[in-house]
Amino acid sequence: MKKIKVYIQNMKGLLVVLSGPSGVGKGTVRKILMEDKSLNLAYSISMTTRKPRVGEVDGEDYFFVSQEVFDKAVENGELLEHARFVNNSYGTPKPYVEKLRNEGKNVILEIETQGARSVMEKYKDDNLFISIFILPPSFEDLEKRIRGRRTEEESVVQERLNKAKSELELKTLYDFNVINFTPEQAASEISNIIKSKINL
Ligand code: 5GP
Repeated sequence: MKKIKVYIQNMKGLLVVLSGPSGVGKGTVRKILMEDKSLNLAYSISMTTRKPRVGEVDGEDYFFVSQEVFDKAVENGELLEHARFVNNSYGTPKPYVEKLRNEGKNVILEIETQGARSVMEKYKDDNLFISIFILPPSFEDLEKRIRGRRTEEESVVQERLNKAKSELELKTLYDFNVINFTPEQAASEISNIIKSKINL
C-alpha cells in the first residue's frame, strides 16, 4: 500500500477587532467567547494609564502603567495602536499579537473606535482580519449600563455618553455589526462569524 504523507501547515491565526461604545458590554461578551476553547482565542491585554476599578487585576484586565511608561512604549514603537479615551491612554502591545497569531491563535483586540480605525487601516489587506462593532439595543439602554457601573463621577459619565453618541455613528465602517441584546446572544453571533471565517 502506498504511504501518504500529510503535511499539516501551521495556519496563521485570525485577528479580530471587537469594538463599540464604552459600556456596551464588550468585556462581558469577550469573556464568554474566551470560554469556548474550540475558537482557539487569545485576548490581547492592553496597556492603560487608567486606575484599576475594584476587582480589576494588573496583567489580567490591563497592564496598568503610569503616563510616563505609556509614552515611552509609544516612543519605542511598542504599540500596535493607541488612543486617548476620556483623559486616559490605552494601547495594544504589538509583539504579543503577532507572536500569538504566528502560533495559530485567533487574537481578539477589545478596543475603542479610534484605535479600531487605525487597526482597520493597517490590516485592510490582511484576509485573516475581521472587525466587529457591538451595538446596544438603544441609546437609553447604553446610558443605563454606563450609569449602572456606579464607579464614576457624573462628569465622566457625561463624557462617556457624549463619546458613545459619536462612536455609534462609526458602525458602518466595520465588517459586522452585532446588537448586544444579551451577552450570550451577542457572543453566539460573534462565535458564528469567527467560525465561518476559519471554516470550523
Ligand atoms: P475602560 O476604561 O472602560 O476599561 O475602557 C475604555 C475604552 O477603552 C473601552 O472602549 C475599551 O474597549 C477601550 N480600550 C481598552 N483597551 C484598549 C486599547 O488597547 N486600545 C484602544 N484603542 N482602546 C482600548
